[in-house]
Amino acid sequence: MVDRITLEEPRTIATLGSHSALQILKGAKDEGFDTLLICEEKRLGLYKRFKFIDEILTIKQHKEALDKRCQQHLQDVKSIIVPHGTMIAYFTYSEIEDISIPIFGNRKILQWESDRILKQKLMNASRLTTPKLIQSKDDIDKLCIVKLHGAAGGRGYFLAWDKKSFEENAESLLNQRRIKGEDELFIQEYVVGVPTYLQFFYSPVNKQVEFLGADIRYESIIDSIGRIPARQQLSVNLEPSYNVIGNIPLVLRESLLEEVYNMGERFVKASEELVPPGMTGPFCLEGVYDREGVFTAFEFSARIVAGTNLYINGSPYSELLYEKPMSMGRRIAHEIKIANEKGHLDRVFT
Ligand code: ADP
Repeated sequence: MVDRITLEEPRTIATLGSHSALQILKGAKDEGFDTLLICEEKRLGLYKRFKFIDEILTIKQHKEALDKRCQQHLQDVKSIIVPHGTMIAYFTYSEIEDISIPIFGNRKILQWESDRILKQKLMNASRLTTPKLIQSKDDIDKLCIVKLHGAAGGRGYFLAWDKKSFEENAESLLNQRRIKGEDELFIQEYVVGVPTYLQFFYSPVNKQVEFLGADIRYESIIDSIGRIPARQQLSVNLEPSYNVIGNIPLVLRESLLEEVYNMGERFVKASEELVPPGMTGPFCLEGVYDREGVFTAFEFSARIVAGTNLYINGSPYSELLYEKPMSMGRRIAHEIKIANEKGHLDRVFT
């Protein structure tokens, strides 16, 4: 393991050019930090458009962010790195562990997000209702969603309702060389209802959970299948896919909010016990509200989610908590600022 840098006074907020980088750096600038984007050459055209990005460190591909040259520069400008989904997708857990620059939040919990078994353990400890897991294809007797381990954006997921439909789809993944064997798939009960992404922030300085927004993902092609009449659907043999294209805002019934806060608080508490120092900063509980308004969680993200990009100018919920427009990106920078002022910097990064 490398020696980690400890910061006395962070000056720069840095992130990788993708996912929620614009929101993170805009929020950092609004809170008075310098901003730095580590950016692939091919994405420069986009990111150069934005004045709140003070410096762009150009790399050929994401992995180069781990190189000594990059790390040294980040250290020179006193950076904290804000992790997001692209970082989880492109770097292995041990690579993240080996980054010497301070990372906002608890970097250990990022591993719990990527590992199905650890993920389930934390959700159970948080007393979240989760979809039933089906151990074998022989036991499929209702609508199930079949997932690939570590699949990003739901690519390759399929629906099965019996052994035959499972085998047909698994064979197609085998033929496409997406999987080497059926044992790479895991089967979950399909929960019918409104898929909802609940966006939280836990402040290790104030020791409080804040609920800052909710969204629905709009996914191609599953969300467009309903636009095709049933007769045509049957005749063209469409295979659903779940590639996230964008996010749609959602405001919850006020009567659901109490339980939203309870779930967020239980999650934070369980994470403190299982993965100290626990879930600090942004996280998301991802699940489905069924016909009774009960939330079944199928996933969590232990860092900022792209659905928060909806609320760069604040959300209906942040508006209730803050006088100024508070995006999740800005909330992160705000936390670093108050931690620094109160002498609790050690609580906000690892
Ligand atoms: P990823 O983590 O790979 O992005 P998700 O877990 O977000 O994938 O799931 C992709 C899609 O599958 C989403 O539309 C989500 O709503 C849906 N989904 C996942 N698990 C279930 C489930 N158990 N029941 C119903 N829908 C589900």
